[in-house]
Amino acid sequence: MSRALAVFHYRPMTALRERCPACNRRLITTRFDTTFRMPDQTERLCFGIPGGLCEDCHQLYIEPDLIELLELGTGRCTFAIESDLVIQEQAWSA
Ligand SMILES: [Zn+2]
Repeated sequence: MSRALAVFHYRPMTALRERCPACNRRLITTRFDTTFRMPDQTERLCFGIPGGLCEDCHQLYIEPDLIELLELGTGRCTFAIESDLVIQEQAWSA
């Protein structure tokens, strides 16, 4: 079951946290399918990104290494949905 989640910010984190550093609410830690808007107004879709999301703050926490890898440093996360690609993911890693 997947949920649509609007996200307006994302922040790097040093490790997967259980709670939001801003409001201490429990984070949803799973994989997300996300859309990022880049400075040149193009959109980039990234699937199955592991992260933690705070529903109250609309804040998505992603590991800095991953942000660097995906070259999202200057982008803005505009949308995220819980990934339901678990079966495909298992196929990829096989
Ligand atoms: Zn929060």
